[in-house]
Amino acid sequence: MSRIVFMNDRLVPEAEARVSVFDHGLLYGDGVFEGLRSYSGRVFRLDEHLDRLYASARAICLEIPLAKEVVAKAVNDTLAANKLSDGYVRLVVTRGAGSLGLDPNRTKNPQVIVIADTIALYPREHYEKGLRIITAATQRTQSAALSPRIKSLNYLNNIMAKLEGLQAGCVEALMLNHKGEVAECTGDNIFVVRGTKLLTPPPDAGILEGITRNAVIELAQAAGIDCREQTLVRHDLYTADECFLTGTAAEVIPVVEIDGRKIGAGVPGPITARLTKDFHALVRQ
Ligand code: PMP
Repeated sequence: MSRIVFMNDRLVPEAEARVSVFDHGLLYGDGVFEGLRSYSGRVFRLDEHLDRLYASARAICLEIPLAKEVVAKAVNDTLAANKLSDGYVRLVVTRGAGSLGLDPNRTKNPQVIVIADTIALYPREHYEKGLRIITAATQRTQSAALSPRIKSLNYLNNIMAKLEGLQAGCVEALMLNHKGEVAECTGDNIFVVRGTKLLTPPPDAGILEGITRNAVIELAQAAGIDCREQTLVRHDLYTADECFLTGTAAEVIPVVEIDGRKIGAGVPGPITARLTKDFHALVRQ
């Protein structure tokens, strides 16, 4: 089905939504993006996603040519134009077309693109039975090299780890930071339950501070679950009672095996089930 896409200042048919081959987004992955989701016609945490987009852009000295309110309206208009009330939105801002050199000052016209589509979730079975994941040998980029807090169009680091996961028959893979601590998965944040505590790596472990992650932390607090940001190593995962991942596309998904070790009883646990239920209620609120 042909989609309607927002390009800079208007909605256009998919076939007319084109960027230049000189766009530095294409040539160098120079740009930023967000993945958002709408439930029952309302975008979940739109302001948080826009704040993160503008923060990512600021960090790479990319001035988004539209005000936040205008981008917010574009997101809603694109969903409406595609008649999607439950949909996934990809918001992309490229550096724009320039010369064949890295210099971002020699580019012009950053492209603001909003694509809305249905969502490609993991199969239902994965949510019911839980995922099996492996640790990738590819480390998460060090903050001193490229901050994982920037949601940039440069996802090769994560794609390298994703390839390792896929080669091992897993749809997700765990990434460690340069110190060997648990960071996150290739497109999802990670949580473990140990005893009565819910633990997740802190931002300085080198992660993207997920909006779903933050929502789940709030839900845990509201449910009286002791939730903490804590440095984790693989041993903490292998010996955890429960494990789950969070992300806009994945929502909350249980993990039942890591590197061949069964997590807890090897089936999705009760705290994971509780937070999944609370998350589904929250997004429809
Ligand atoms: N980590 C990475 C590397 C991601 O790409 C994503 C998904 N965008 C997440 C975590 C989860 O973030 P969010 O909950 O905001 O989708």
